[in-house]
Amino acid sequence: MLNSCGISRYLSNTELEDWLKDFSVRCGRISRLNSIGTSVQGRDLWVLELSDMPGQAEAEPAFKFVGNMHGDEPVGRELTIRLADWLCMNYKRDAMATSIIDNVHLHLLPSMNPDGFANRSRNNANNVDLNRDFPDQFFPQNNNEARRQPETLAVMKWIRQNNFVASASLHEGALVANYPWDGNVDKRFFIYAESPDDSTFRFLASVYSKAHRNMSKSHEFPGGITNGAAWYPLYGGMQDWNYIHARCLELTLEIYDTKWPPESQIVQIWEENRQSMLELVSSTFKSGVHGKVFSSASGLPLAATIQVDGFNQTIKATSQFGNYHRLLPPGKAYKVTASMDGHTSRSVHVLSPNGESTALDFILDPTGGVGQQHKLMRLMTTHDDSDTMALLLYHSKFTFLSFLGVLVILFSCFGCKRRLWLRSEKSPAKV
Ligand SMILES: [Zn+2]
Repeated sequence: MLNSCGISRYLSNTELEDWLKDFSVRCGRISRLNSIGTSVQGRDLWVLELSDMPGQAEAEPAFKFVGNMHGDEPVGRELTIRLADWLCMNYKRDAMATSIIDNVHLHLLPSMNPDGFANRSRNNANNVDLNRDFPDQFFPQNNNEARRQPETLAVMKWIRQNNFVASASLHEGALVANYPWDGNVDKRFFIYAESPDDSTFRFLASVYSKAHRNMSKSHEFPGGITNGAAWYPLYGGMQDWNYIHARCLELTLEIYDTKWPPESQIVQIWEENRQSMLELVSSTFKSGVHGKVFSSASGLPLAATIQVDGFNQTIKATSQFGNYHRLLPPGKAYKVTASMDGHTSRSVHVLSPNGESTALDFILDPTGGVGQQHKLMRLMTTHDDSDTMALLLYHSKFTFLSFLGVLVILFSCFGCKRRLWLRSEKSPAKV
């Protein structure tokens, strides 16, 4: 039995690379392929980005799927490429495919550990478990970033360069949607470790579990979801790092009971997970509060801090567009506050309905002359180049107008003087 890709087996690393390159041509209008780094043995870590404007900055959330972090768990490789293929074939034909491509920058890393896949081993070629290699709040041994594995460093850099709002890493060996925290401060076993976004994580994990054919029917995990530390604690995991350092709400999805299932099962596993994957990506724009923050004085976007009461975790609007995307459990009322140095904070009460997001823009007033100056200095020193350029252009408009004014005055004076001089030339000399 062949799937939509015409494939019913695990692609080798070379075949996967060829497939991705072919796809990026075949579906080039909505995709871009690039390597975010290389593995220990020099294999590229290919990322396929799908969007109506791939590779271009937009005021949209980004979502990522990471497959094959553990080399002996290959199903994620196959699901991510099938997801890409399905979206390509159904864009402008299916409402969900179209809304995902139009509203999200979806990044797919089919294999984070191609060396492990080639060796059919969990660890990378340096025999390191990549899901124990990230810096960890409870495990300072991993704090030295320079000593992390090349695959880990590539993924950390990739995460820092994108506005990932949520993501999922695909694993095998169980059937459950796992969410942070993965560990706890005293390293105890089977203790629920609640993160500040526990309710948001449970909502996202349930989105996946409920849309899956079997996951929510689990006898071991109520609702098919689990807190990581409550299941078994681990340190140096990728999902906690995502949340702490990038505010990215990452799940660890265990999508099949056994590792490396028979190739004959791939199509069935894809069918079981397809709707879950689509629903999870869609939740980045179909839930929560989304908007932009601007300065009333300059009209420029502000990289403001967004705080929601009841959540001891803030997110930042982007400096380029001022856009923010705060995922929240639906069906509740929230008080959302935008704040920025040198500006008066604003708070708004909103209702987050089921199945749709809430749009909320903020316009913040400068607190005064000193605040205005401070804000401008801050913009000049902390924003990226494009924003600084926008600010410079904004100011240069006034500089240019002033310069033009001086020119007009000088020209007028010169004209008057010249007329007087000509008149004096023609006039008889006074005696
Ligand atoms: Zn795994």
